[in-house]
Amino acid sequence: MNNRMYLKMKALPENVGFIRNVIAAFCVSTDPSVETLNDVKTAISEAVTNCIVHGYKKTEGDVSIEAELIETKLYIKISDNGTGIKNVEKAMEDFFTTDVEEERSGLGFTIMKTYMDTLQVESKLGAGTTVLMTKELIHADR
Ligand code: ATP
Ligand code: MG
Repeated sequence: MNNRMYLKMKALPENVGFIRNVIAAFCVSTDPSVETLNDVKTAISEAVTNCIVHGYKKTEGDVSIEAELIETKLYIKISDNGTGIKNVEKAMEDFFTTDVEEERSGLGFTIMKTYMDTLQVESKLGAGTTVLMTKELIHADR
């Protein structure tokens, strides 16, 4: 079955748990393993947290999530209208962070890449950032 959902929510740290659980619930119809579902939840948390801490910093804004299921494959788009990223290629490198005072490890994008099948980042300075990820939720060998 194919399915689609949209969610727009205020960019607050206390909303990260809600968002990841909504997406997990959306995926449940495909009957994924607990491990696969946890992979998706982890990647989503990283993407949404980035919108909040880097995209908006201490300002207000919304995070938009668009998810689509085509058969058992998940397509997900997470976007903000925040600061944007100056150099996306650099930002995606392991251990790269612009947030040294907060002692961030610079591994958010690495985690998204590892836990999902594909990761694409589009960003425009001053306009915002969009993260696109896909993952096949069912593997024949399980
Ligand atoms: P960690 O995720 O390990 O806590 P981090 O958030 O700095 O650290 P990444 O998630 O890999 O590491 O992001 C790397 C860098 O990309 C960030 O430090 C930030 O400069 C930039 N970045 C990522 N997402 C956004 C966003 N939505 N808006 C603006 N900048 C972003
Ligand atoms: Mg991060």
